[in-house]
Parts: sequence; structure tokens; C-alpha cells
Amino acid sequence: MSHNFIVRSQEALTNEQLQSALAKAGGGFVARRQSAIDQVPDFEQMRDQAQAVRQKSLANLDIYLAYFEQQVEAAGGKVHWARSPEDLRRIVIGICQQAGARTIAKGKSMVGEEAHLNAALEAAGMIPWETDLGEYILQLAQEPPSHIVAPALHKTKAEIEALFRNAHQLGERDLQEVKAIVDEARDVIRERFLTADVGITGANMLIAETGTAVLVTNEGNGDLSSCLPKTHIITTTFDRVVPTWEDASKIIRVLARSATGQPITSYTSFFSGPKGENDHDGPEAFHVVLLDNHRSEILASDYREMLHCIRCGACMNHCPVYQAVGGHAYDSVYPGPMGAVLSPLLRGYPQDYELPNASSFCGRCESVCPVRIPLPGLMRKLREQERQVAPPPRVNRTLLSSFAWLASKPALYRRLTSAGSWLLHKLGRGKGRLHKVPLARGWSQQRELPLPQGASFQSQWEQHLKDKAKKSSPQGGGRG
Ligand code: SF4
Repeated sequence: MSHNFIVRSQEALTNEQLQSALAKAGGGFVARRQSAIDQVPDFEQMRDQAQAVRQKSLANLDIYLAYFEQQVEAAGGKVHWARSPEDLRRIVIGICQQAGARTIAKGKSMVGEEAHLNAALEAAGMIPWETDLGEYILQLAQEPPSHIVAPALHKTKAEIEALFRNAHQLGERDLQEVKAIVDEARDVIRERFLTADVGITGANMLIAETGTAVLVTNEGNGDLSSCLPKTHIITTTFDRVVPTWEDASKIIRVLARSATGQPITSYTSFFSGPKGENDHDGPEAFHVVLLDNHRSEILASDYREMLHCIRCGACMNHCPVYQAVGGHAYDSVYPGPMGAVLSPLLRGYPQDYELPNASSFCGRCESVCPVRIPLPGLMRKLREQERQVAPPPRVNRTLLSSFAWLASKPALYRRLTSAGSWLLHKLGRGKGRLHKVPLARGWSQQRELPLPQGASFQSQWEQHLKDKAKKSSPQGGGRG
């Protein structure tokens, strides 16, 4: 498959199943988030508090991480440091081999995806079973996730039904209703929790004061993956640390509201070490593997704010580009606006420089981000960086400098734009839109160009100033 965003986007735009899945899912997230934040009087203040927690955490990361490690070890667990995805795979496989693992119950873990952990476990002779419903569907389909909260968002019900019929071989049954599909997945996956030797989960946060990992889910599979197997491994990144439980609660308040429009997710789980003497259940061994993978460099760079991300997915739910092409076009575990910044920083592939350009800069991502990450600003910085490495073609530079020259001559600009507007209306033959745009056929393959309606901005602005001057003059519209 192509690694080129433009090629992948074009494929996505002509994929009818994907377009139908995106159309069904997109608006739901936006409406639910809006309704959840309408129910609290102070969501903006909650955002400020969450942002302050992330700033404070990253400013003193070394202290909080050292404390976190100390607390985990005091509780009988072990913290491992993985500089690269290879390190993470080696550490996790080593723990699994030590536990004599054959099967592994896996909860959703972005880091597991980032490090391609499943393939490595399989190559080492183990069977990793995904237990999050979305991830399980994708494991059957052998596809990567397309959304950080709803990984199988791109799949239609009919596709999932076909996957289940093929994989489960349970004979004739009715899988028309979503409930029937979910019930079948529950039956199949439950068995795997009971037989797994190791459970691997991610973590949304790490609380330094008690060495606790926090995991938010809506399916409860994280609890079962962590409690039933004898060994629990948490894979996450070191930047997830927050100082205290109070700080964690400030993140939790904005996380679920921004992600799924819930005040809180169905399960918010806290893991603090292995089973204690008086505990009825829990793992006998507890490991936390913290991945760096260039995050130390991001921390020390102008892009540090990207590490504030709490992985809610709101930016992609509100992004017109993501909503049009879906997550696979980004060819990364991290799609949408957050991925457009994070992927080039983590991977630095030459083709990743297309990602910060996949934005209209409408600013919706920044306006909904619960921790106020200036995503368009960070994308702009990446674009500037790209210009230094690979200057745009001469023709683009000539066009831009011609535009700059024209924009500095208001009278000429006005005359040319009104002539252009007249010409476009002639070409549109009164239909109000153009199906094919001269010199931009590629652009108009997937969309129509709405033609300018009414007076231009400049003439409206002139009129507005005239009206204003009239009202404020002594002979104007006011009463004498
Ligand atoms: S960048 Fe902001 S909106 Fe996007 S996933 Fe991260 S926290 Fe959520």
C-alpha cells in the first residue's frame, strides 16, 4: 500500500464503504461532546486546569518519573525503560518468556501499536489476543486502527458480520443486530481472559505519588486483562506521568467528555502493583514498560506541547480532513491533526512531511483540544521546517510572490478579482458551482467549487464603514 498521504486520500475518497462508515460515525462524536460540555458550567475552566497539569508534569518530569518508579518498586512491581520500539519489544517478550507465556490477553495500547508488538509476540511463538472489541475486529481483519478512541471506526456492520462468520465458524445465526455481534465477541473473548498467561494493557496516566497506572475504558476488558492472568504488563510512554491523584482527576474530567461525550467512562481502573497478601485477585507480577521513541527530543524542542496530548481524539472528530479521508490515509497509529504533528516528530519519514500540510487551518482542532494544544501553530512550524529542507517548486514560489505583489495593490486586486468572479459565473452558467475547475482538475475530481455569491468582502467592508460613519455623524440615523 502507498505511504503517500495524497495517494491514500484519493483512494479513501473513492472508497464507498469507508465514506459510509465515516458519515455514520463523524457527527455522533461531535454532538455527544457538545452535549456533555453543555452540562457543566465551567468546561473552559476544566480545560485550563487540565492544561496546567500537563504543563506542570512535563516541567518536572524527571522528578515525577523517579518517584513513580520508586513507588512501583515499593509495591513489588518493576519499571522498565525502553528507548526505542525495538527495546520495548525485547523487554515485553523477555517478561512473557520468563512467565512461560503461550497466550496473551491484550487491552488497547497505542504504544503496542506504535511498536508493532503483536507481530513481535507472534514471531516469538506466542499468541496475542486483542480483547478491546474494536482492536479484536481489526485483528481479524489484519488492519491497523484508524482512530485512537474508536479503532474500527472505518468498518461497517456488514463487514464486521462477515469477519465474525469467517473467524468463529459457529454455524447459522442471526448477526443483524449490533447487540448480537457484541454478544458473540464477548463469548469468544471471555474464554481468552480465562486462559491467558499474561495480560498487556496501555495506561492513560501514571500517578507519581502512589506509583499507580490509570486506564479508562468502556468495555472493562482492561480490568480482566490485568487481574486474571498471573502477569500484568503495562506499555505506555513516560510522558503520561502526573504528580498526584488530584491532578489525575483533573485530566479524567476533560478526557471522557472530549472523547466520547461521557462525564466519565464506564471503567476507570487504577493499577498499583501486584496482588497483595490480603487481595483476593490480581496479578502476581506487575511490570510497567515506558517507551521514549524520540519523545525526549520532543520534550526538549519547540514541539513540547504535543506531549500534553491526552489522546481523546476530539481533534480528529472535528477535523474536516480526517472526516473526509479517515485514519488510514495518515499511515500512522496517530491520525488526524494530532498525528499530523506527532507522526513526523516520532518517525521523521520524508513522506511524513505531507501530514502537516493535510490541514485547512480552520482551527477547530485547537478550539476543541481539552489541553489547548496549538495544533495549527505546531503544523505551521513543521511546514516551515519542511520548507528549509525542501523548498517548494519554483512555480509555487513564483505564484506566491505574484499574489503578494497583487495583494499590495488594492485597486488592481479589486479589478482583477471582480473580473475573475464574473468569469467564474460565466463558466458556471448560473448553476452557482463549477464541476470542473480550469487548471485544477485534480482538486475538482472529488468536489465542486461553490462560486462567489453577492458582493465581495472588500465592497461589503467599504459599505459597513460608510454606514457606520453615517450613524455616528450628527445628521446620521440617530435621534436628534
Ligand atoms: S491533540 Fe488534543 S484534541 Fe487531539 S487527541 Fe490530543 S488531547 Fe485530544
